[in-house]
Amino acid sequence: MIKVCLKYPFFNLSLTAKGVFIALLLILYNPQELQSQKPFKIVIDAGHGGKDPGRPNKSGIKEKDIVLNIALDLGKKLKNSGNEVIFTRDKDIFLTLRQRAKIANDVDADLFISIHCNAFHDHRVYGSETFVYGLHVNKANFNVALKENEVIFLEEDFEKNYKGFDPNSPESLIGITLMQEEYLDQSILLASLVQDNFTKDLKRKNRGVKQSGFWVLHNTYMPSILIEAGFMTNAREGAYLNSKKGQIDISNSIFKAIESYKKAINYSADNQPKTINNIIYKVQISASKRRLELKSYNFKGLKNLSRIKQGSIYKYFYSSSSDLEEIKEKKKYARSKGFSNAYIVGFENGKLFDVD
Ligand SMILES: [Zn+2]
Repeated sequence: MIKVCLKYPFFNLSLTAKGVFIALLLILYNPQELQSQKPFKIVIDAGHGGKDPGRPNKSGIKEKDIVLNIALDLGKKLKNSGNEVIFTRDKDIFLTLRQRAKIANDVDADLFISIHCNAFHDHRVYGSETFVYGLHVNKANFNVALKENEVIFLEEDFEKNYKGFDPNSPESLIGITLMQEEYLDQSILLASLVQDNFTKDLKRKNRGVKQSGFWVLHNTYMPSILIEAGFMTNAREGAYLNSKKGQIDISNSIFKAIESYKKAINYSADNQPKTINNIIYKVQISASKRRLELKSYNFKGLKNLSRIKQGSIYKYFYSSSSDLEEIKEKKKYARSKGFSNAYIVGFENGKLFDVD
């Protein structure tokens, strides 16, 4: 016993000293603070791959190879500047659209960036365009989504996997959901920044920010864009897209757009609330015997979720701050999202108490 005490001097301390020590530990080890250090998470989706080479063109260059090179280079740059990067594919493999969206949703990414190249029967057409999800306003946008959705036909049982969706008719996607509406402004912001950089830095022809019914954008629960980096069917642009310089230029422009986007939305790894007096307020949105994953799609699009277990009941919370006024606003927001009974709770040193 004496040996143990010598080895672990903690046991020899007075109660007060132990209290101080534990309080210090609590301050140092605050899960909320740890969570706030999480890096910005970006899912990069190189279109096509494996048995799906992408858009056909006569010059023999492959969309799947070009977009993979751009994606890998972009990922490297983003990682080097402290972001967390997840690739839907980092080699030449086939992935379904469902798998791509699922990867992004499972990691609860902050952004989803899908990279593609375009093709057109008129070889004079060139330029880059960036899409956000929406209902296509014209035939040209419809056709781009049609082509990118076509990969679904390569899946054996696509009728079962994409029930109700006809790849020949992107209109069969249901209308824009509340969740995508919430992210639409941010998606458009990022898409515009990408297009601006292509135009200003690279002097590329700007075909604009557009909306269309891409299956993969429809099914991700975060700001999402799909970049058509240029036309492989145009001789000059095709050669540029297929060159190392072109691919690095393009990834540079996307990288800079993402960094500007983060500034614009005020993202910083440590801009999360700090705790004062060890009291944190949260909005309790539901309680249930079921253990739900803390994914925004389980909670009507809300992010910043947490959960505790009390007895056999799981309690689910939205947001977290030491500022009660801020949490009151969050409560209003949660209620507007359909959690009509949402109310404010507080945690003092980890112990739950009711505020409302
Ligand atoms: Zn494509």
